[in-house]
Amino acid sequence: NHKLCMIPGPIEFHEDVLTAMSTPATSHIDPGFVNTFGETLEGLRQIVETKTGQPFVVSGSGTLSWDLVLCNVIETGDRGLVLSTGLFGDRMVECLEVYGAQVDTLRPDCLGNVPDEAAIRTALQDAVQAGRPYKILTITHVDTSTGVLVDVQAMARLVQQISPSTLVAVDGVCSVAAEELRMDAWGIDIIMTASQKALGCPPGLAIVVASQRTLAAWRNRRTKVSSYYAAWSKWLPVMQAYEARKALYFATPAVQLVMALHVGVKQLLARGMDQVFEAHKQTSDQFKNFVTSLGLAQLPVSKSVAAHSMSAMYYPEGVKATDLLPRLGQHGIVVAGGVHPDLAPRYFRVGHMGLSALEPERHYMDKTQNALRTSLVEAGFQPKSVA
Ligand code: PMP
Repeated sequence: NHKLCMIPGPIEFHEDVLTAMSTPATSHIDPGFVNTFGETLEGLRQIVETKTGQPFVVSGSGTLSWDLVLCNVIETGDRGLVLSTGLFGDRMVECLEVYGAQVDTLRPDCLGNVPDEAAIRTALQDAVQAGRPYKILTITHVDTSTGVLVDVQAMARLVQQISPSTLVAVDGVCSVAAEELRMDAWGIDIIMTASQKALGCPPGLAIVVASQRTLAAWRNRRTKVSSYYAAWSKWLPVMQAYEARKALYFATPAVQLVMALHVGVKQLLARGMDQVFEAHKQTSDQFKNFVTSLGLAQLPVSKSVAAHSMSAMYYPEGVKATDLLPRLGQHGIVVAGGVHPDLAPRYFRVGHMGLSALEPERHYMDKTQNALRTSLVEAGFQPKSVA
């Protein structure tokens, strides 16, 4: 009696992903597994469209992907600029500060929007003119707390024009394999993500792809890295070994999760990433049109800043979380409540990544839409399109 998991991650799994997980105990240096891991790393490189970027896959959730970058790249006193469009941007500030960065944060005038481009330009210019350019600029591609999408390509271009030494780092936990993201062509230095969203796997793997320029920044650091488990000095040789189809041990990988990720990655590449991005756009447009037709307003202020991997909608007048979410559950659909502290009781979130967006399983969206309409009516709301 499984309820469809329509939250913005973890998402529904393909049955081949599940089957891959139910593999008997396998050594992490088994030649077959070494090949699986190697192919997974190569596939991840293709998914984010980089030739020379270095992938890392390490057991842990998406949050570990941040530490896996920042503990290696940031030294005390380095400057960081965070473009924050929600809770995850605000958390990124905390994470940078843990590693000693001096952080400036740019937020939009109102939640649901993106920071003003002129303000970003000024911040970058001022830092360059002061002779203390930012070491890193972080962007949350899709902030899962607001459903806001940032134009990563435009931001990367801005940084390249004004402050070319600054590393462009993208939190792609809620965007990789759903939103268009082209690492080399757009000049992205760092992509951080996780297994449980558009990559279609269970939670448990932190994934990073770092440009060669980022690795050089790490190699040139003056001070020691203050992490044992997340140190690239430990993981880089392991990742390089797997790609060379050799086994090297630092810490036991989550063997079955890597097997699942291998299937997820292969499935995406078999479809072709352009088609995958397009399917997410279409699914998102269709769902957003549907909620608009019901009379619900969305948290992102315009279509151009709205994610395609998920939707964030306000409850209609007179309907509360406790009226709607349990009813949706009774109709077999699990969605997520609001999480941004400023607005949490006022909105809810639906994920439409991976299987939900890709044929032939788009009936997940039909079920979700039907359940949403019915639940709203049961909660006493008269949807516009039903009136
Ligand atoms: N960044 C974003 C944009 C996220 O959506 C999430 C998780 N929802 C994270 C980071 C953290 O990932 P995890 O919960 O897997 O640690």
